[in-house]
Amino acid sequence: MSTKYIFVTGGVTSSLGKGIICASLGRLLVARGLNVTVQKLDPYINVDPGTMNPYEHGEVYVTEDGAETDLDLGHYERFLDIKTSQENNVTTGRVYNDVISKERQGAYLGKTVQVIPHITDEIKSHIVDLGESGDYDVVITEIGGTVGDIESLPYIEAVRQLRYDVGRSNTLSIHLTLVPYLSAARELKTKPTQHSVKTLSESGLQPDIIVARSEYELDDTIRNKIAQFCNVEYDDVIASLDAESIYQVPFMMQDEGLDKRVIEKLKLEAGDADLERWKGFVEAIRNPSTEITIALVGKYVEHHDAYKSIVEALIHGGAVNDCEVNIRWLQSDDLTKENIVENLEDVSGVLVAPGFGGRGIDGKLAAANYARENGIPYFGICLGMQCAVIEFARNVCGWETANSTEFDEDSEYPIIDLMPDQKNIEEKGGTMRLGLYDCKIKKDTKTYEAYGEELVQERHRHRYEVNNNLRYKLVEDGMKLVGFNPERDLVEIIELPDHPWFVGVQFHPEYCSTVNNPQPLFVDFVKASLKHAKDNDLAEPIKREKVVIN
Ligand code: GLN
Repeated sequence: MSTKYIFVTGGVTSSLGKGIICASLGRLLVARGLNVTVQKLDPYINVDPGTMNPYEHGEVYVTEDGAETDLDLGHYERFLDIKTSQENNVTTGRVYNDVISKERQGAYLGKTVQVIPHITDEIKSHIVDLGESGDYDVVITEIGGTVGDIESLPYIEAVRQLRYDVGRSNTLSIHLTLVPYLSAARELKTKPTQHSVKTLSESGLQPDIIVARSEYELDDTIRNKIAQFCNVEYDDVIASLDAESIYQVPFMMQDEGLDKRVIEKLKLEAGDADLERWKGFVEAIRNPSTEITIALVGKYVEHHDAYKSIVEALIHGGAVNDCEVNIRWLQSDDLTKENIVENLEDVSGVLVAPGFGGRGIDGKLAAANYARENGIPYFGICLGMQCAVIEFARNVCGWETANSTEFDEDSEYPIIDLMPDQKNIEEKGGTMRLGLYDCKIKKDTKTYEAYGEELVQERHRHRYEVNNNLRYKLVEDGMKLVGFNPERDLVEIIELPDHPWFVGVQFHPEYCSTVNNPQPLFVDFVKASLKHAKDNDLAEPIKREKVVIN
């Protein structure tokens, strides 16, 4: 079977949930035994989102090969249980960068380099190269942005050409659009969809399937209208309604027949979907026995997307522990020694998030201090681990001015410091310690118990490390350094032995948590938080009507 290509475009507006639709379709096809990968093409000029502020862009998702990518790749990995790579996320910046480098090398043999054919060729080769990089039955390519935007045009043109290049029957075009409800008229409106399809068609790309995002059921009249005016069959109009949980969307798409239509149209040889495990997971997250509250301390908390993978990993960890994790979002800027008690006294766990720069550090230190002194489960991720180390160095080791050189270059006790190989790096993009590294874990530790393995690999995204010249003092005063990178003897994990659960990790465990493989530290952190909640009367039993997925 040759590789089939599915292109997913979006119309009318952004934020229709294209990423979740792609991930859900991917999940359904994987459940039918197909080998699938999902790719995101982003029409912005940044070479990757690594240099973007999380308020702009949400979380930067890091792949195993160390690419800094769009957060939709996190959905693809979590839903499909696959690994993605640099090739799964391509931006306009990267495409132009590569084309301009080739031009400087003389690769275009004296030609005038133009958007068509050179930029479009480069886009096409990114799609086909991904398809050929593995034994894929299907590549789903999500085109970021909205049809009609100037910056989307080269992508639409590349897709139009590719349908011709690889054969129309090997490709499918899915268009996601909005069907708004006008409450004054009490009507769903199809006109925006018609316009969006018209715009797409003007660029030479016809949709084969229309996924209509709507707040209300689409009745027959609406479906017929969309089918007739957008040139698709009745069964090719798929309704996408709001979901209680994103993890229910695969079932909703299955009910609407999305995977069935895709398989028929692409003539794929596929079995029935086996979604038993997925169903078990969705029922677990919809019917938990208990709920607990975990504080998430960070400086971008107004924008929940900035911590997407952490939130999802907590949901996965909650499912394993039969409990719902409510997040108390705490802005680290607002936390002080004076108000920390009122903010944290009734939470069952504290998670201090990754981050960059000095803003909000005092609040994070106050949170680490409170959790340490009061026996509240603490999970420090990357900067959250560095804060736990600084707090310990200051208040237990007595190095009052201990700091990270990220915030105080002249610190007397730079307990967190730049690695020598980072010191002369000037460029910001893609120059951190990125991607998968080994971590060797000491036995008789909470971390080892959680993983059940001595050697693990986790993804990284940081410049600073625990200072190897000063770390002896942490150990002398009772902090356990329990995980190390074997090649470079870098501290990867810290624990406090006389504490119910106090773990800091230099890496980002949240990136690899999936529905089928919840990340062990998140599972264990939720377990410890649930125990803390039960021991301290903080756990709330949940009595709701049971949700059953048919
Ligand atoms: N700013 C810190 C560093 O660069 C932590 C980074 C992070 O939390 N991802 O090391």
